[in-house]
Amino acid sequence: MVQGWTQDLMGRAHAMACEAVVEALDVSLEGGLSRSEVERRRGIWGKNEMPQLRARSAWRIFLAQFKSLIIALLGGAIIVALLYDDRVEAGAILVVLIVNASIGFITERQAERALDALRRATRSVVRVRREGREAIVDAEDLVPGDIVLLGAGDRIPADLRIISTANLWAEESALTGESAPVAKGASPVADEAPLAERHSMLYLGTIIVAGQGMGVVTATGAHTELGRIGRLVGQTAKESTPLERRLADLGRRLVMFVLAIAFIIFIAGWARGHPLPIMAEVAISLAVAAIPEGLPAVTTLILALGMLRMARERAIVRRLPAVETLGSVTVICTDKTGTLTENRMTAHSFYLSSGQIVEISHAQAAPADRLLERALLVCLLCNNASWHVDESGELRATGDPTEVALLEATRARGLPVERLRGRYRKVHEVPFDASTMYMITVHRADDDHWLVALKGAPAVILDLCSSRYDRQLVAHMLTPQEKECFLEANREMADRALRVLGLAEKIVAGASALEELDLTGGYTFIGFVGMIDPPRAGVTEAITRARLAGIRIIMLTGDQLNTACAIARELGIGTEHGLRALHARELRDVGWDRLAEIATATDVFARVSPEDKLRIVMALKAAREIVAVTGDGVNDAPALKAADVGIAMGMRGTEAAKEAADIILTDDNFATLVKAIEGGRTIYANITKFVHSMFSHNLSEVLAIFSAILGGLPLPLLPLQILWVNMITDVLPAFALAVEPPDPETMQRQPRPPRATLLSRRLLWLIVWQGAMLAALIVGAYLWALIQYGPGAHARTIALLALVAVQLGHMFNCRSRVQSAFHRLGHNRMIILALIISLGLQLLAIHLSPLATVLDLTPLAAADYVAVGLCFTLPIVIVETTKFIARLKKDHHAS
Ligand code: ADP
Ligand code: MG
Repeated sequence: MVQGWTQDLMGRAHAMACEAVVEALDVSLEGGLSRSEVERRRGIWGKNEMPQLRARSAWRIFLAQFKSLIIALLGGAIIVALLYDDRVEAGAILVVLIVNASIGFITERQAERALDALRRATRSVVRVRREGREAIVDAEDLVPGDIVLLGAGDRIPADLRIISTANLWAEESALTGESAPVAKGASPVADEAPLAERHSMLYLGTIIVAGQGMGVVTATGAHTELGRIGRLVGQTAKESTPLERRLADLGRRLVMFVLAIAFIIFIAGWARGHPLPIMAEVAISLAVAAIPEGLPAVTTLILALGMLRMARERAIVRRLPAVETLGSVTVICTDKTGTLTENRMTAHSFYLSSGQIVEISHAQAAPADRLLERALLVCLLCNNASWHVDESGELRATGDPTEVALLEATRARGLPVERLRGRYRKVHEVPFDASTMYMITVHRADDDHWLVALKGAPAVILDLCSSRYDRQLVAHMLTPQEKECFLEANREMADRALRVLGLAEKIVAGASALEELDLTGGYTFIGFVGMIDPPRAGVTEAITRARLAGIRIIMLTGDQLNTACAIARELGIGTEHGLRALHARELRDVGWDRLAEIATATDVFARVSPEDKLRIVMALKAAREIVAVTGDGVNDAPALKAADVGIAMGMRGTEAAKEAADIILTDDNFATLVKAIEGGRTIYANITKFVHSMFSHNLSEVLAIFSAILGGLPLPLLPLQILWVNMITDVLPAFALAVEPPDPETMQRQPRPPRATLLSRRLLWLIVWQGAMLAALIVGAYLWALIQYGPGAHARTIALLALVAVQLGHMFNCRSRVQSAFHRLGHNRMIILALIISLGLQLLAIHLSPLATVLDLTPLAAADYVAVGLCFTLPIVIVETTKFIARLKKDHHAS
């Protein structure tokens, strides 16, 4: 136990003075814990992680397989066989049963593993003070006594006693159910205060919505309030997607249908004089073969594998249904800074209130220009970026990229950075907020005057100013004409794609108290600073790709119109109508209908507040668009939630945004988003392919046996043979189609209509006629064999091989509904592998005598192989012909 820190104290931290908590936790506020102390405490309190909701154990998954209908049916078949004293048959069916269960088991386990890997990929990090320095550590490495620094948008990583705050608000619905933010502060509260009223504490799993603060960890992992309730946070629950639900539903209906057919076959066969036990087994086997048992498991597996592939390409899917929606996205609303641009800013030039322009790159030692010095001072003071020495011993600035650029500019200009920051002690801060678009810091100079430094969006800053400096640093009243002239200068900078910030200050002499300072106006304008933020590599190409894929791109930015347009043009945003851009102020009094109209006809929205963003997203949705939205700030959470697909930035994004999002881009890159959309489309396409093949295969089996019995032929397949074929041709092709690589043409098609069902009328028609065609080939081969060899094992062996052959041939057809079966065949090795394994197993069944005996198969003559070969090639030839004609027709229409 940490000296003096007990479970009892832990429960009372909210009521203790924060000095007492810090003392009991034995930590220095300035230095934090030492590394060895952290190790020691971890030994006592363990890692900061929740007692894991145990992943389903392997046994559980395996046992669950036995609850399925298939297993019940096979069990029934075993009983029938035993009743008629056929031990070999019963044993063989038992083997089939176990194999079936194992395949289900492996599939589910793979899927579960994939999902688990994704869960682990979304760990969060925390800013702490340790060994006298600030450091970023994994949230799970926290121990009681760690000093944690928090800002707006952070998720609270453990239970904390607050030490200091600046306008700190937390949202604690995860714990208290109350979604209105609560103000937090350092003063203790009553001992008996309920959780919701402990304003001196921050609890694991809640989120900071505004302000900044520092706290000391009082409890971690299972000891936290949340841990004690035993609820889990940040856990991506396995949600089933609409597609999975639809497929499961389809599966259930199909089961009823198949059972009915099996029953009819049973009665018909019996009436035709086939022996009762055989017919019972045939009916059962057929039902087993025709029920698409792999459907839910394989769908989940395809989704999970697709998600893993996307994660490798830096898009982490937090909610499974999003994968599906991604494929049908019609509009992407993207922010600019950091997603389209590098967010690696460099200060380019100053425009000073004297009208003078100073290029920063020409870093000759600063001329004694007092106005420029003021501008640099505000850049330095109204700034939270800081220097640190990285591993390679180089001095680096860290923090908000905008502020890093300004800090670097002050150093390049030779300002004595540390000395000035020491001379002007910061006593208060109004943090930057995307809706106010400015930031204020208040400093106490060592000669006892106040300096209020202000920086932010140019127009906003000018509105807060009542005067301006001249070259000699004399303040003059700011006239409307001058203001207009400054705004014009700002526009000129913005047109050159510069990100522009306004700088202003206010000097208050005398000993008035901090509370008496008026921060809401009366500033003196100093000038503008223009920054370059280059577009990210690959974004222009990604935008072109998205456009080809029928997806419209809207830029929503907090930056100003001219900067936004200049960058949008550089990146090729816009349509053949040119670039349509709008200032968010135009949206203020606009009704929903009109807003939807505007939103569908605009490419760039500038000066967008988070609320504007939400409204634009909702208007687009009302206009029946499928909207993907990117976001990073706390205030973006509502828009991310409202979107069809919410996308948070992994590096720049706040925990709040990540929590609200469906997908996280770990590299913050727009190009990754476009790739993820391609991934979503591919996954959907692969599920369709597999449904196509599985359903047409099953239909062909049922139709072949049904028509043979109705036509009075001897049974083409014995029960065990049906089960054998089912095992081989159901699973392998499904997997092979599931891993089809993305087709380059995926991104040249329009988005899938969102309400289109998977089993569209077109696909259903394909399944029906192709299933019938396959059945006809099987029956044809069987008839030929009957004529050739008469009823018996030989003819049945040919029927069985014919069935396997048509299905394997058809597997290639299912690769694409439009393209040839051989199009880009080399890109999917699995499909060739599936073919080879299936054929190999088949030959084994014929030539390995014990297996051949059980399955009642005989070796074939050369002529038989020709017939079987035809069964493999004919489905391909027939379907290729129809595809070819369809393509011709389409080209004809197109030209
Ligand atoms: P975006 O990310 O879309 O470019 P932001 O919401 O980050 O826009 O910023 C909006 C505006 O707020 C910027 O154009 C700039 O004028 C101002 N701004 C951005 N960062 C800061 C900051 N750290 N301090 C003061 N003002 C800022
Ligand atoms: Mg931003």
